[in-house]
Amino acid sequence: MAVPKRKTTPSRRGMRRSHDALKPEAFQECPNCGELKRPHNLCSACGHYNGREVVSIDD
Ligand SMILES: [Zn+2]
Repeated sequence: MAVPKRKTTPSRRGMRRSHDALKPEAFQECPNCGELKRPHNLCSACGHYNGREVVSIDD
């Protein structure tokens, strides 16, 4: 069985955990209109997704 050769020092452990606090972005700018939108979701302002208009927004 694979066993760690050395004890992980508090410093090494801290360095590893320094990335744990990073959170995914909840909002991204729409590349079409610049409005804030949820990632992987249709833009509610212009109806665009992945570079094309999916739903037409008339107002
Ligand atoms: Zn948009």
